[in-house]
Amino acid sequence: MSEHILIGVAWPYANGPLHLGHIAGAYLPADIFARYHRLKGNKVLMVSGSDQHGTPITLRAEQENKPPQEIVSLYHQEFLDCWQKLGISWDLFTTTGTPNHTQVAHDIFLSLLDKGYIYKDSVPQAYCPKCQRFLPDRYIEGTCPYCRFAGARGDQCDECGRTLNPSDLIDLRCHICSTTPRFEVSEHFFLRLSAFEDRLKSWLREKADWRQNVLNFTLGILEGGLKDRAITRDIEWGVTVPQPGFERKRIYVWFEAVIGYLSASKEWATLHGDATAWQPFWKNEAKGFYFIGKDNITFHTLIWPAMLMGYGNLNLPYNVPANEFLTIEGKKLSTSRNWAVWLPDYLQRYAPDPLRYFLSINMPETGDSDFSWREFVRRNNDELVATYGNLANRVLTFAYRNFAEAVPTPGELDSQSQELLHKAQTALDSVDKLLYQCHFKESIRAAMSLAQEANRYLDDKAPWKTLKQDSQAAATAIYVALSMLSALKTILCPFLPFSSQKLHNFLGFNGKIEAAGWSIQSPLAGQKLPSPQPLFSKLDESIVDEEASHIGHEKSNEP
Ligand SMILES: [Zn+2]
Ligand SMILES: [Zn+2]
Repeated sequence: MSEHILIGVAWPYANGPLHLGHIAGAYLPADIFARYHRLKGNKVLMVSGSDQHGTPITLRAEQENKPPQEIVSLYHQEFLDCWQKLGISWDLFTTTGTPNHTQVAHDIFLSLLDKGYIYKDSVPQAYCPKCQRFLPDRYIEGTCPYCRFAGARGDQCDECGRTLNPSDLIDLRCHICSTTPRFEVSEHFFLRLSAFEDRLKSWLREKADWRQNVLNFTLGILEGGLKDRAITRDIEWGVTVPQPGFERKRIYVWFEAVIGYLSASKEWATLHGDATAWQPFWKNEAKGFYFIGKDNITFHTLIWPAMLMGYGNLNLPYNVPANEFLTIEGKKLSTSRNWAVWLPDYLQRYAPDPLRYFLSINMPETGDSDFSWREFVRRNNDELVATYGNLANRVLTFAYRNFAEAVPTPGELDSQSQELLHKAQTALDSVDKLLYQCHFKESIRAAMSLAQEANRYLDDKAPWKTLKQDSQAAATAIYVALSMLSALKTILCPFLPFSSQKLHNFLGFNGKIEAAGWSIQSPLAGQKLPSPQPLFSKLDESIVDEEASHIGHEKSNEP
């Protein structure tokens, strides 16, 4: 029976280009998961969009002396271009700047207010006397009270991942002018998170199958007790507050950005001509998966679930398979120091599948993992090209040249051949289970070891030697090898969609590979084969030093 799978993916701030950390952390695993479920015949709704609000945007706009809208429009376009080139298969990638999003955010705000889960209070807010303004979130810097990191921001410590209030920080200063702010009273709305503690605890008790790092982090925060959080800010860029007297304030970006999962689902439904089509993805048996980096865990395992509990009638997250961080050349990624590999730069120079391969087989699933150009070139040349690409090329070229440009007709299969085909089916079944549980690294490793088995089989059978004396034996071996390629194109399709589509066509199948579903298609004996091309290209070792020299040397890309 087909399932409804909602896939929500972190909303990137439209204030700078995407980098490999974003991709390894959230976008690639989400896309693999979506493609897998679509192949299985499940109904998938994968949504996200540009986060247009919050102080990361206004800081950038002030830095560049441009209106915020100009900044967000520029990067939104760039995101769309990257998704298309990298093959991230959204059902909808929208923005938080739509009237629909404002309406859905207002609806949730007013419903929670009505039920007493949102209340008004007067609180001291940091105010910079020199800049003559209130300082929300990222306009404040200071030392984290938990881990003593000196560059913590008013909303969060990037070092230990804790969410913070500005008054928690030690040695406060204004991000713009470094003046010590004073606190002035301002009226704000608060989310009564404390009211959800018990319900969140019992909900999380059923989540023993979540990733241990996600669960432990969440339970640790919950253990310390949940404090109510201000959900409005003294800022004029963002979603308006639907209450009189709050015209010069806006809804806190984190409160409204997570609502984006729901508003994007509704927008998708409207765009597809049935305004209720989002409901099967949010109610009853539907399962919602949220793909995010570990710096966003709290918002998806505590705050968004609390908001949904308060609002009612919608499913809470089924799983939040947050990834750890990707380091670059052994060091922590830092956009401000330009210690990053930017996605637009990568996509300008290289094909998408080698990156998808590297970040899949080296995914920071349960611990941080590293990207280095040397390792990237090695994995491309020694694994993707040597193990998989060459197998495809050898088999397809041999069939094309020696069997009249067609799939040969096999004779009787010996036990070695039958065993190999059985292994392919076993691999498909085990990757099926692994992907369902979001074990991406293990899945692609299983696929690659199947490719190794196929190589060993081909070397044993050596059809290039048997062709002259026993062409039937050669035909059988090549037919079995073509069947292995057919299995590989399916198992690898969620990971390497571009090369899987090519291989699908090189094997003589027409149309889109997605239509073939999650099963091994047997090659059709006698089917004409097109002239094969290599699936991947070897990369020259010289790019290692060339590419590594770009890292850390250019100017900052984020305020
Ligand atoms: Zn200032
Ligand atoms: Zn900290």
